[in-house]
Amino acid sequence: MVRASSAVEEKIRHRCQDQCKARCCRYITVMLPAPKQKADFDELSWFLAHENMSVYVEGRRWHLEVRNRCKYLTSHNLCRIYETRPDVCRGYEPDSCEYPNRPAHALHFDTKDKFDAWWARKRERERRRRKRSTRRKRK
Ligand code: SF4
Ligand code: SF4
Repeated sequence: MVRASSAVEEKIRHRCQDQCKARCCRYITVMLPAPKQKADFDELSWFLAHENMSVYVEGRRWHLEVRNRCKYLTSHNLCRIYETRPDVCRGYEPDSCEYPNRPAHALHFDTKDKFDAWWARKRERERRRRKRSTRRKRK
Protein backbone atom coordinates (compact mmCIF):
# COMPACT_ATOMS: atom_id res chain seq x y z
CA MET A 1 0.00 0.00 0.00
CA VAL A 2 1.07 3.54 -0.57
CA ARG A 3 1.88 6.03 2.10
CA ALA A 4 2.06 9.79 1.90
CA SER A 5 5.64 11.01 2.00
CA SER A 6 7.68 9.99 5.03
CA ALA A 7 11.43 10.37 5.42
CA VAL A 8 11.68 7.19 7.48
CA GLU A 9 9.85 5.10 4.92
CA GLU A 10 11.28 6.72 1.83
CA LYS A 11 12.47 3.42 0.40
CA ILE A 12 9.03 1.85 0.78
CA ARG A 13 7.35 4.92 -0.60
CA HIS A 14 9.62 4.88 -3.64
CA ARG A 15 8.90 1.23 -4.28
CA CYS A 16 5.12 1.56 -3.92
CA GLN A 17 4.61 4.96 -5.46
CA ASP A 18 7.23 5.18 -8.20
CA GLN A 19 8.23 1.63 -9.11
CA CYS A 20 5.09 -0.42 -8.56
CA LYS A 21 2.72 2.51 -9.08
CA ALA A 22 0.33 1.24 -6.43
CA ARG A 23 -0.67 -1.96 -8.14
CA CYS A 24 -2.52 -3.31 -5.10
CA CYS A 25 -4.74 -0.22 -5.05
CA ARG A 26 -5.97 -0.85 -8.57
CA TYR A 27 -8.01 -4.01 -8.22
CA ILE A 28 -10.01 -6.06 -5.75
CA THR A 29 -10.38 -9.83 -5.51
CA VAL A 30 -13.31 -11.78 -4.12
CA MET A 31 -13.16 -15.47 -3.31
CA LEU A 32 -15.84 -17.52 -5.06
CA PRO A 33 -17.32 -20.94 -4.35
CA ALA A 34 -15.84 -23.51 -6.74
CA PRO A 35 -18.25 -23.96 -9.65
CA LYS A 36 -20.07 -27.30 -9.66
CA GLN A 37 -23.21 -26.97 -11.72
CA LYS A 38 -23.97 -25.55 -15.13
CA ALA A 39 -25.46 -22.41 -13.55
CA ASP A 40 -22.20 -21.77 -11.65
CA PHE A 41 -20.07 -21.99 -14.79
CA ASP A 42 -22.57 -19.89 -16.68
CA GLU A 43 -22.34 -17.20 -14.01
CA LEU A 44 -18.53 -17.10 -14.30
CA SER A 45 -18.90 -16.75 -18.05
CA TRP A 46 -21.27 -13.84 -17.44
CA PHE A 47 -18.81 -12.14 -15.06
CA LEU A 48 -16.22 -12.29 -17.82
CA ALA A 49 -18.58 -10.66 -20.29
CA HIS A 50 -17.97 -7.46 -18.31
CA GLU A 51 -14.99 -5.18 -18.63
CA ASN A 52 -11.96 -5.40 -16.34
CA MET A 53 -12.83 -8.79 -14.83
CA SER A 54 -10.70 -11.90 -14.46
CA VAL A 55 -11.36 -15.26 -12.90
CA TYR A 56 -8.50 -17.33 -11.57
CA VAL A 57 -7.84 -20.38 -9.43
CA GLU A 58 -5.17 -20.26 -6.74
CA GLY A 59 -4.60 -23.64 -5.18
CA ARG A 60 -8.17 -24.96 -5.26
CA ARG A 61 -9.76 -21.60 -4.57
CA TRP A 62 -11.63 -19.64 -7.20
CA HIS A 63 -11.39 -15.85 -7.28
CA LEU A 64 -12.92 -12.98 -9.15
CA GLU A 65 -10.58 -10.08 -9.83
CA VAL A 66 -12.05 -6.68 -10.61
CA ARG A 67 -9.54 -4.19 -11.98
CA ASN A 68 -10.85 -0.91 -10.72
CA ARG A 69 -8.73 1.70 -8.96
CA CYS A 70 -9.51 2.67 -5.41
CA LYS A 71 -11.29 6.02 -5.06
CA TYR A 72 -8.74 7.06 -2.44
CA LEU A 73 -5.71 6.59 -4.65
CA THR A 74 -4.39 9.96 -5.71
CA SER A 75 -3.05 10.75 -9.16
CA HIS A 76 0.41 10.59 -7.53
CA ASN A 77 -0.14 6.99 -6.38
CA LEU A 78 -0.60 7.91 -2.75
CA CYS A 79 -3.34 6.86 -0.34
CA ARG A 80 -5.58 9.75 0.62
CA ILE A 81 -6.78 7.95 3.79
CA TYR A 82 -3.54 6.20 4.77
CA GLU A 83 -4.04 6.52 8.53
CA THR A 84 -7.56 5.06 8.40
CA ARG A 85 -7.15 2.68 5.47
CA PRO A 86 -8.91 -0.71 5.73
CA ASP A 87 -7.15 -3.65 7.37
CA VAL A 88 -6.94 -5.47 4.06
CA CYS A 89 -4.72 -2.65 2.77
CA ARG A 90 -2.51 -2.94 5.84
CA GLY A 91 -1.91 -6.59 4.98
CA TYR A 92 0.07 -5.56 1.91
CA GLU A 93 3.77 -5.16 2.63
CA PRO A 94 6.30 -4.26 -0.05
CA ASP A 95 8.62 -7.00 1.25
CA SER A 96 6.09 -9.76 0.83
CA CYS A 97 3.58 -8.53 -1.75
CA GLU A 98 3.18 -9.61 -5.33
CA TYR A 99 5.36 -6.86 -6.79
CA PRO A 100 7.29 -7.20 -9.07
CA ASN A 101 5.91 -10.58 -10.13
CA ARG A 102 2.28 -11.47 -10.03
CA PRO A 103 1.73 -15.10 -9.04
CA ALA A 104 1.12 -17.49 -11.93
CA HIS A 105 -2.14 -19.41 -11.66
CA ALA A 106 -2.93 -22.79 -13.14
CA LEU A 107 -6.21 -21.36 -14.44
CA HIS A 108 -6.63 -17.70 -15.28
CA PHE A 109 -9.29 -16.30 -17.59
CA ASP A 110 -9.53 -12.70 -18.65
CA THR A 111 -12.11 -13.12 -21.40
CA LYS A 112 -15.44 -14.86 -21.76
CA ASP A 113 -14.25 -16.57 -24.93
CA LYS A 114 -11.26 -18.18 -23.19
CA PHE A 115 -13.42 -19.33 -20.32
CA ASP A 116 -16.14 -20.72 -22.59
CA ALA A 117 -13.55 -22.66 -24.63
CA TRP A 118 -12.06 -24.14 -21.44
CA TRP A 119 -15.55 -24.97 -20.13
CA ALA A 120 -16.46 -26.70 -23.42
CA ARG A 121 -13.27 -28.81 -23.23
CA LYS A 122 -14.04 -29.67 -19.63
CA ARG A 123 -17.59 -30.79 -20.55
CA GLU A 124 -16.20 -32.90 -23.37
CA ARG A 125 -13.66 -34.57 -21.05
CA GLU A 126 -16.45 -35.34 -18.57
CA ARG A 127 -18.71 -36.68 -21.31
CA ARG A 128 -15.95 -39.08 -22.44
CA ARG A 129 -15.22 -40.13 -18.88
CA ARG A 130 -18.88 -40.95 -18.30
CA LYS A 131 -18.97 -42.91 -21.55
CA ARG A 132 -15.90 -44.96 -20.56
CA SER A 133 -17.36 -45.57 -17.14
CA THR A 134 -20.67 -46.76 -18.62
CA ARG A 135 -18.80 -49.11 -20.97
CA ARG A 136 -16.80 -50.57 -18.08
CA LYS A 137 -19.96 -51.21 -16.06
CA ARG A 138 -21.57 -53.07 -18.97
CA LYS A 139 -18.65 -55.50 -19.26
S1 SF4 B 1 1.74 -4.21 -4.59
FE1 SF4 B 1 3.39 -4.10 -3.05
S2 SF4 B 1 4.90 -2.67 -3.90
FE2 SF4 B 1 2.97 -2.36 -5.00
S3 SF4 B 1 1.94 -0.71 -3.93
FE3 SF4 B 1 1.18 -2.64 -3.06
S4 SF4 B 1 2.51 -3.03 -1.27
FE4 SF4 B 1 3.55 -1.48 -2.56
S1 SF4 C 1 -7.62 2.77 0.80
FE1 SF4 C 1 -5.58 3.56 0.32
S2 SF4 C 1 -4.20 1.82 0.61
FE2 SF4 C 1 -6.28 1.01 0.45
S3 SF4 C 1 -6.59 0.50 -1.73
FE3 SF4 C 1 -7.31 2.61 -1.40
S4 SF4 C 1 -5.58 3.92 -1.88
FE4 SF4 C 1 -4.80 1.86 -1.57
